[in-house]
Amino acid sequence: MAGSGWRSAALELVDLVLPVDCVGCGSPGRTLCGTCAALLQVRPRSRSVAGVGTVVSGVEYDGVARAAVLAFKNSGRTDLAGPLSGALGVAARHALEPLAAPVALVPMPPTRRSAVERGYDPVAVLLHRARLPAVRLLSLQRRASDQASLARAARLLNAAGSMRAAPAAAGLRVVLVDDVVTTGATLLDAARAVRQAGGTVLGAITLASTPEHRPIGTEQ
Ligand SMILES: [Zn+2]
Repeated sequence: MAGSGWRSAALELVDLVLPVDCVGCGSPGRTLCGTCAALLQVRPRSRSVAGVGTVVSGVEYDGVARAAVLAFKNSGRTDLAGPLSGALGVAARHALEPLAAPVALVPMPPTRRSAVERGYDPVAVLLHRARLPAVRLLSLQRRASDQASLARAARLLNAAGSMRAAPAAAGLRVVLVDDVVTTGATLLDAARAVRQAGGTVLGAITLASTPEHRPIGTEQ
């Protein structure tokens, strides 16, 4: 974790010196202009994913939020780590509130390709910025095909059995962490791996969720 901490600090330094445009509308000078910042509403939402439990997310993966997540993940817009980590932090507070301590926050492992292309692990950066301590337990067992290019059914198959958890997972009470939840297949795979290693999965938090998630308080 020392290495990723150092890297996050370096990224924060870069934020201070590079000029940026608003990720929502392209107006110059700020990471998010006032109008787009207002559109990036942090409204925690949850849904139940079989085999994982309750998944709590900070924002809907739509509009400005979706543009911000994509720019952060794929275009090196690390200046967005601040607002996005705020959304993840809110999701974490909602998810952890009803749970008795201790709980280990366990992030999804980055794919080797994405780590090389980006030079940073988006989930790790967000956790660091949100001051949420993470426990690295998961690794990729085999190379999964590019998730984004696969249809939903194929994705479910593709994700099954792609992760393994370290023996240190035994006896831990785990909340999984990812950037975006779509089908829940990746989280389910991670949950299986944690259980196989002897850990207990209490649920998951994600920065964003696809629109089928309902905001907390509006279920039913
Ligand atoms: Zn804007």
